[in-house]
Amino acid sequence: MNTQRFQKKAGLLHDASPLEFLPNLSRKLGPMIYVKRDDQGGRGGGGNKLRKFERIIADALESNCDTLIIAGHYQSNAARQLVGAACQLGLKSIVVCKELIPPQNQTFNKTGNALLMSLMNARLVGIEQDADYMLEMDKESAKVRKEGGRPYIIPFGGSNVLGALGYVDCVDEIIAQFKSMNMDPPDYIISATGSGGTQAGLIAGLTMKGAKTKVQGFSVLHPGPAISAIVSNLVSGLFGELKIGDQPVSEILIDDKFKGKGYGIPTREGIDAIKLMAESEGLFLCPVYTGKAMSGLIDYIKSGKIKTTDRVVFIHTGGAPLVHAYYDCYF
Ligand SMILES: *Cc1c(COP(=O)(O)O)cnc(C)c1O
Repeated sequence: MNTQRFQKKAGLLHDASPLEFLPNLSRKLGPMIYVKRDDQGGRGGGGNKLRKFERIIADALESNCDTLIIAGHYQSNAARQLVGAACQLGLKSIVVCKELIPPQNQTFNKTGNALLMSLMNARLVGIEQDADYMLEMDKESAKVRKEGGRPYIIPFGGSNVLGALGYVDCVDEIIAQFKSMNMDPPDYIISATGSGGTQAGLIAGLTMKGAKTKVQGFSVLHPGPAISAIVSNLVSGLFGELKIGDQPVSEILIDDKFKGKGYGIPTREGIDAIKLMAESEGLFLCPVYTGKAMSGLIDYIKSGKIKTTDRVVFIHTGGAPLVHAYYDCYF
């Protein structure tokens, strides 16, 4: 293990993100529900990717890079946060874009994350729908080199072992925050699962702490078996990195039933969950990630899979710009 590579962070985030109790939502649904505000803090509008970029970008800086390249789409939270971090650090960024989500309205590729990326003067490179991301990023990388630059390719969604370590940090914060309230760790942590790094980091962090907390992921991108395999691989990698290889890998809980027709296609239940959270607590979830995850949590409570005596932490992974991009899907 290269300890230095593992400890070094780029300094994108400062303090622990707040952990807040949600009194009104808890009263309506039953269990005590807390929200971990990973939507708060950092540049580019914030969100869960910044935790993952802490070590990935530190690694990029270590390699003396001056241009970050990421695969994304016009409404990518990951790309928007990468561009924000690049601005902060004085690096250039290139977003290799596909229409990963079918345009949902007339302005879909111009509003929300696309608008914020334009304001940050990001370079968006559009590629064909059937083009290979890796190949296209390599091409951009070669161009940068030819012009004397030093490119660094960010892993998809920031979900490699280095990135997922950011969610080991998140577990440390959550456990310390409960401890400061004289409480044991929560029974459940709920997260929207896309590329898998968030959930993998949470699982590894909890295992390292010996906490009994279950991580329930709700897949918004991949089918269940595919994302389970991805998360499982990342967890193994993290166990190696953290030297907890002799611990049994806990069961990986991912449900893809709340994904609906596909990535970025809103569901009725997800929209209802967005409205419930907004009117109960004044917090905004999005149709792509957190709204769907919340619809899963609501279903699990109603069906008794999560009991009213359980204490639940919902990770708010960010994505507020998506609320605007999907302006006409709510009413
Ligand atoms: C990327 C993202 C996720 C998923 O995180 P992964 O680590 O890719 O699984 C969840 N919520 C939001 C808002 C995101 O942008």
